[in-house]
Amino acid sequence: MPLSKYDVIVVGAGIVGLTSAYHMKLENPDLKILVVDRAPAFAQGNTAKSAAGFRDLFSSDENFKLSSSTISQYRSIQESGKFDLGMNFVGYMFLMGPNDPRKNLLMELSDRTKIEFIDRDELASYPYLSLNPTGESAGIMNLPSIETAAIGKNCGIIEPELIAQFYYDECVRIGVEFSFSTEVSSFRLQPVNPIDFPGEPFLWQDKTLRTIETNRGDLTADIFIAATDTWTTSLLDPTGIDSHIRPKKRQIFQTGGNEVEKVLFGWERNSDGVLPFTIVPSRGVYIRPAPRYRSLWLGVADDYNRDFSFTENPEAERSFYDYNLSQIITSYFPSLIEQKVTGMWAGYYSYNTVDKTPYIFRDLNIIVATGTSGSGILKGDAIGRVVSALYSGKETARLHGGQEIKVDSLGVHNRSAASENLVL
Ligand SMILES: Cc1cc2nc3c(=O)[nH]c(=O)nc-3n(C[C@H](O)[C@H](O)[C@H](O)COP(=O)(O)OP(=O)(O)OC[C@H]3O[C@@H](n4cnc5c(N)ncnc54)[C@H](O)[C@@H]3O)c2cc1C
Repeated sequence: MPLSKYDVIVVGAGIVGLTSAYHMKLENPDLKILVVDRAPAFAQGNTAKSAAGFRDLFSSDENFKLSSSTISQYRSIQESGKFDLGMNFVGYMFLMGPNDPRKNLLMELSDRTKIEFIDRDELASYPYLSLNPTGESAGIMNLPSIETAAIGKNCGIIEPELIAQFYYDECVRIGVEFSFSTEVSSFRLQPVNPIDFPGEPFLWQDKTLRTIETNRGDLTADIFIAATDTWTTSLLDPTGIDSHIRPKKRQIFQTGGNEVEKVLFGWERNSDGVLPFTIVPSRGVYIRPAPRYRSLWLGVADDYNRDFSFTENPEAERSFYDYNLSQIITSYFPSLIEQKVTGMWAGYYSYNTVDKTPYIFRDLNIIVATGTSGSGILKGDAIGRVVSALYSGKETARLHGGQEIKVDSLGVHNRSAASENLVL
């Protein structure tokens, strides 16, 4: 257990905590940085639950910068040949019905990134897709026919535990310290100039967070980073600082079997012959290809009737799969009626419910990085750079590849992030 005082303590060793510690230490090699997590190892929270798709298909400028620069950083790591991130550019395919508003959005985005548009006739050559879902249930569900598809080419799948491993190894190499199985109780502010009188801090005293309590003793630092995703609210609440996020449960159903493998490996339009990450035209239901596991993962970001409650160990609901997801998926991919659910899990998105873009802000000596809204893996490197820039008091953060982003565009008071329209 570390005993001494630190310059910076990062709470949370998910992708956001790891990239933040890494970039702060890289830019300030003399800093004494400690990362704590209550789990016995890094990346055991929502990072481990992710579908881990990556895409630069975002409507807002901020999200485009965060995602495209992170993808380019991950690509450079992968292509260095020194570390395998399991990165595979299988693409992100939006299957769209007539009048789908995403078509215009994607057309506009094709000025910024590579997007291939496929018409209905070409799609018909892929034998596992039903372009016109028919039958009574398709009618009841009001499923649109598929008219066109758009495939983002700078998109694909990645292994979250491998990216986390990369940043953890790099952090250790450059001297960041870690303390696992270390749970921080809620942040409680202290007076800047204590007078040793019961009831401090009083209204008239300036406040700071100097020492945090953990199950392994007190820890002291000049700056604290809350990289605690959906747990940020309970950590911050006693301080009176708003986390600005709400949790939403998200589930993945892993399927396997012969028919699954045919659908997964039957796509002939990319070099690996693997189905892209596919979004069907109804309700945002998606299929995440998992060729490593010869599996398809099914999920959706359901909003209505999905409340904001939070439990420590969320469980996937098999009935949600049986009566909701599978109905839609098998209408478009009829042979998947034979699929078997071989695993399922659930986690949370930490939602910025207003613009679906991360919140990265400083209040007192606490820097908060949360609100990843379902895309924290694919923006991970850039988020770490913004945290580091905020720590150093810079107005702009330089992202991988040279793009720049204004730090306070992602903050609270001078926030200028536009509302995101492509949320999955
Ligand atoms: C089902 C699902 C699918 C997803 N799909 C994608 C996707 O395709 N692409 C994508 O980019 N993103 C996706 N996401 C989102 C992505 O997983 C998150 O945005 C990302 O993992 C957030 O990283 P984080 O480091 O902020 O949080 P976490 O990984 O949750 O890390 C927070 C850490 O804080 C620790 N902690 C919390 N409280 C305390 C405390 N009091 N003391 C000490 N430690 C504490 C936790 O143990 C945890 O390790 C998905 C998420 C889910 C649930």
